[in-house]
Amino acid sequence: MINDYILKKDAKYWKEYFEESNFDKKFYYDGNDLGAMYSKEKTLFKVWAPTAVEVYLNLYVTGSDEEVNAQLLETLPMKREEKGVFSYIKRGDLHGIYYTYTVTANGQTVETGDVYAKACGVNGHRSMVVDMERTNPDGWEKDMPIHYPLEDTQIWEVHIGDFSNDVASGVKSTYLGKYLAFTQENTTLEEDGVHSTCLAYLKQLGITHVQLLPSFDYGSVDEQMKDGSFNWGYDPINYNVPEGSYATDAFNGATRIKEYKQMVASLHKAGIAVVMDVVYNHTYSLNSHFNKTVPFYYYRQWEDGSFANGSACSNDTASDRAMFRKYMIDSVLYWIKEYHIDGFRFDLMGLHDVETMNEIRKAIDSLGECGKDIIIYGEPWAAADSPLKEPMKFAKKDAIVQLHERIAVFNDDTRDCIKGAYNKLQDPGFVNGKLGIEEEVKRAIKGMFAREWDVQPDSPAKLLNYVSAHDNSTLWDKLVDSVIKDRSYETKHETLIFMNKLAAAMVQFSKGIPFMQAGEEGGRTKLGEDNSYNLSKELNQIDWNRMYKFEDLINYYKGLISVRKSLLDIKTLTKEAADKINFIEGLPDQVVGYELGSQLKTLVIFNASNKVVELPLKGEWRLLVNECEAKPEGIKLMSKKVYISPICANVLVQIG
Ligand code: CA
Repeated sequence: MINDYILKKDAKYWKEYFEESNFDKKFYYDGNDLGAMYSKEKTLFKVWAPTAVEVYLNLYVTGSDEEVNAQLLETLPMKREEKGVFSYIKRGDLHGIYYTYTVTANGQTVETGDVYAKACGVNGHRSMVVDMERTNPDGWEKDMPIHYPLEDTQIWEVHIGDFSNDVASGVKSTYLGKYLAFTQENTTLEEDGVHSTCLAYLKQLGITHVQLLPSFDYGSVDEQMKDGSFNWGYDPINYNVPEGSYATDAFNGATRIKEYKQMVASLHKAGIAVVMDVVYNHTYSLNSHFNKTVPFYYYRQWEDGSFANGSACSNDTASDRAMFRKYMIDSVLYWIKEYHIDGFRFDLMGLHDVETMNEIRKAIDSLGECGKDIIIYGEPWAAADSPLKEPMKFAKKDAIVQLHERIAVFNDDTRDCIKGAYNKLQDPGFVNGKLGIEEEVKRAIKGMFAREWDVQPDSPAKLLNYVSAHDNSTLWDKLVDSVIKDRSYETKHETLIFMNKLAAAMVQFSKGIPFMQAGEEGGRTKLGEDNSYNLSKELNQIDWNRMYKFEDLINYYKGLISVRKSLLDIKTLTKEAADKINFIEGLPDQVVGYELGSQLKTLVIFNASNKVVELPLKGEWRLLVNECEAKPEGIKLMSKKVYISPICANVLVQIG
């Protein structure tokens, strides 16, 4: 059989071989020692390469040949062991030594980094042996994961660079756009020294979780930063290593690890949990450590052997093959244990099979109490068609039915209902003037998908509600694009603000976990660009001066977050309770109102019309939210009647 591996075979051959020859049974390796296992006395190198005829270990002084002292130290033959694992034990303290493997498989010999690398050199080509102890910042042993009740979760999604690339952030110049910007505690606007920015700002906002756009090592930005390029980073190279362009030194493999931990510790100290955006569904390119180590194995293939393109990147990974499933599980557990990560957002989760996702949830839960509070959610869709078949493949409705009860999904139907279609810039939704969608709004309130999928999850923790994320227009830009063309609105700044406030209230007071793009609360704009993944950092970054031009809006968001926190009936809305929601009848067009609560009721009205709406009240009520304010302690007492201003949400609670 070994001889087969020497000869070059085509993609179709390998697909059949991996899927029809009991390959996964024969070669599945369940050990937890893949990678470079460091100790002071020796390092054990182990790489899974069952189709390789030979593997050599190369040791280097530096992470690339362009650095001072670059030198290949040794090339060592590795020994083939059970399950196609090749190993080598090297005596001595190897911390800081860079390494690669030279793998001969499928008729070719290539040099590759280690798929299980924990550290790497610049741009991730070479892996590095690392003594993890030496990367721990002071006090790391005391750093603890952050736990919040699921129903109080509020997620704020930010790109590490966007957070502080703006010099107005007041962050130290060497930390701008870096992990370490998150460690500066009392930053203020450069120009006034008063208004809080970055971490100090976040502490006041009331969010519980920061979700970082890709922070593993990705390929689209040159870590030497010679070209000043920007990217969101949905193009993984080393899944288990932090990205180097956010580190103060991308050449020393230990620096990015330590600084990432410093960022996590600082957010934790501020009471904020950290969610990683993980992109296990594809890699930067097929010229990856994975494909060089075991050609074709890690990638999903069509019947003819060609690579699947459900990610729109032409190289979908194969979560349904045993060793990539294991890889995903190992990787999330590693980030939890080594970096104290509190949650994961799975990019294009629809490309991962149901079993893998549920196995990941189980593996995390097996960590005990700490594991159960770690949140998992993802996009319940793919970017394009994929060979993955039912029942492994899931669509949105299956995500509710088949996925573990504590894996949540983004509800894009609610998103589009509130502010209009994501892919048609001028199309409005409820808040910006679309007529005749009152029934959709009711579905959104109950946490349901579009009409054709008549399912409602039991728990509100199964859904994420949002009106902006890194993809597509910012909420502000969407409102501008959808309204400016419509002359029936006097598109004053003020009107846009009211629409924005109403959209935010609908997110907070519908069934699901609230999620927002960083800066949505401050009128963030990308000047109408709806796909800024590789545009300039200036266009992408949070403009901290602009944020404070929207201070009233920011305060409104703060208020909404604290009002929601106080409303147990809404934040814990189960299917049973949602089915008992009393939608108020006889309201005018563009107005939806509901009452819920078994004893003292909560009353919520979303008025998207441009008229004042009058509603009679029985008994005494406390008004918590109107067009100007949102206060859990209440704005004023009301009885007999409430007048709801045009384009605004009102929330009232009964007091007798
Ligand atoms: Ca990188």
